Amino acid sequence: MPRILIADTDSYSLPSYDVAWANDGPSCLKKLEEKPDLFIAALHLPKMHGIELLKIARQKKIPCILLSDYPNAQTHQIALTLGAQYVLSKPISSDELKKTIDAFFAGTLKPAPFSGPTAHLSQTPTLATLPQKRPASYLKLWGTRGSTPVISPRFGGHTACLEIRTPKSLVLIDAGTGIQTLGRELLAEPPSHYNLFLSHTHWDHLAGFPFFAPLYHTDATFDIWTPVGYTENAREVFAEIFSDSLFPVSFDRIAPRITFHEMRSGDSIQVEDVQIQVAYALHPGSTLCFKISACGKQIGYATDNEVLVGHTHDAVSSELWSPHRSLIELLHRSDLLIHEAQYLDEEYPERIGWGHSSVSNATLLAREIEPKEWIITHHNPRHSDEDLLKKLIAHETLAKRLGLHCPIHMASDGMVIPL
Ligand SMILES: [Zn+2]
Ligand SMILES: [Zn+2]
Repeated sequence: MPRILIADTDSYSLPSYDVAWANDGPSCLKKLEEKPDLFIAALHLPKMHGIELLKIARQKKIPCILLSDYPNAQTHQIALTLGAQYVLSKPISSDELKKTIDAFFAGTLKPAPFSGPTAHLSQTPTLATLPQKRPASYLKLWGTRGSTPVISPRFGGHTACLEIRTPKSLVLIDAGTGIQTLGRELLAEPPSHYNLFLSHTHWDHLAGFPFFAPLYHTDATFDIWTPVGYTENAREVFAEIFSDSLFPVSFDRIAPRITFHEMRSGDSIQVEDVQIQVAYALHPGSTLCFKISACGKQIGYATDNEVLVGHTHDAVSSELWSPHRSLIELLHRSDLLIHEAQYLDEEYPERIGWGHSSVSNATLLAREIEPKEWIITHHNPRHSDEDLLKKLIAHETLAKRLGLHCPIHMASDGMVIPL
């Protein structure tokens, strides 16, 4: 009887196979040592990403089928390029899975192109106001725009960067263009040790890093945490952005002062008195959302997270929440949620699979999380100040209708939230 290893938190009935189960990354790694005849991995598994497990299985020459709870064309293609025999979209019934496994062992399973929900396209710096007197512990949003910086007099146009400051620590999340404004302010302080966490390495979260002034102080040192990447590790990505063709300063000049670390969903990292916990987002590429615990407060921070992919109405079955369960558990009843809602509901059908949430789907998620307050960030670069103000009204109206009773604000560059 063929031996199959399934790494998934959902279970399936497969009576004609000898099935071993793993419900998180580390237990899966152990069971891969037994060299199953077929390995079936969920894309998002506690503590390890399915793509990372796929790469390990392929190094061991174990054939692999990926079960994706995030139907996304780029992820699908990367899985096939890395050697997956097939990619199936969840939710999937035991019968459908059995048919695919039968086809694999019969030698008739051929990789299929992506067929999930896709967009049907009809067409293809403002400086923060520096507070004169700031609190001893605070969060500060230095960049609140998604995708690309824009000019916006009311909200600011820098891309993602968050500062977390306590009397003992300085923690930064994301290095979008907002980080260069922060860097200029930091020059007023002695050079230090900087802890930078990246949700992922897309441009809007990394483009400011080469312009972060403390980087060029020889006494400044860095710990940089990134999610385990699909194809390149963080050092390789950073080496590329400091390559001769892209930037005039060579990577060799800064690399000795940087220590790179990898993060996986479920990890918890303590930086002095700040705790950072992470869970996977649904977004193209390996991407994380954060829970920040500091000064007795819990704050959720998720800039790039496509909630309820392809969903366009209010009714949500509990099954649809399955890919978001870890995040909801992690952020449940946070003091503050900072979460994106990049698209108006009418824009979303043309942008399904782009990795960002509609107003309705983000509001539905906020209702599940039940935060005390919600700040909407990672604004669409196409939205003017007036659009964002109208969008806030749409959020408030919808929240009332859906039974989400918490104050909602639009993030703006320079916004300070005392801890
Ligand atoms: Zn982004
Ligand atoms: Zn992104």
